[in-house]
Amino acid sequence: MVSWIRLFKAAGFLAIVITNQRGIALGQYTDADLLALHKNMRAELAGRGAILDDVFYCPHAEGACNCRKPLPGMVIQAQQKWAIDLSASLLIGDGERDRQLAARCGIPFALVRNGRVVEVEGQS
Ligand SMILES: [Zn+2]
Repeated sequence: MVSWIRLFKAAGFLAIVITNQRGIALGQYTDADLLALHKNMRAELAGRGAILDDVFYCPHAEGACNCRKPLPGMVIQAQQKWAIDLSASLLIGDGERDRQLAARCGIPFALVRNGRVVEVEGQS
């Protein structure tokens, strides 16, 4: 993740994390726990030269919102906040939800397993 963030940042992309965190709805951890974790993660990445521009998370239960991946809510939030051209972006993910999200939002998609790109879709 570190080298990719560095690479995309060097190429002029924003680096934004979008993550489902249903554990909050399930009471397994709190928003504050998650925010502390994200703060630590961003500090650690930054210390290794990988600056994340933003992190969006969905704290909701399945079926309770429009932002839990593969629903597009977090992508729309990020797009509006940062004025992102989705078709000129790349969504990198490790699962089917990420693939569906990318397809729904018209974002080229790279499927990653064990830190390697194993499949790319939607590139022109
Ligand atoms: Zn949500």
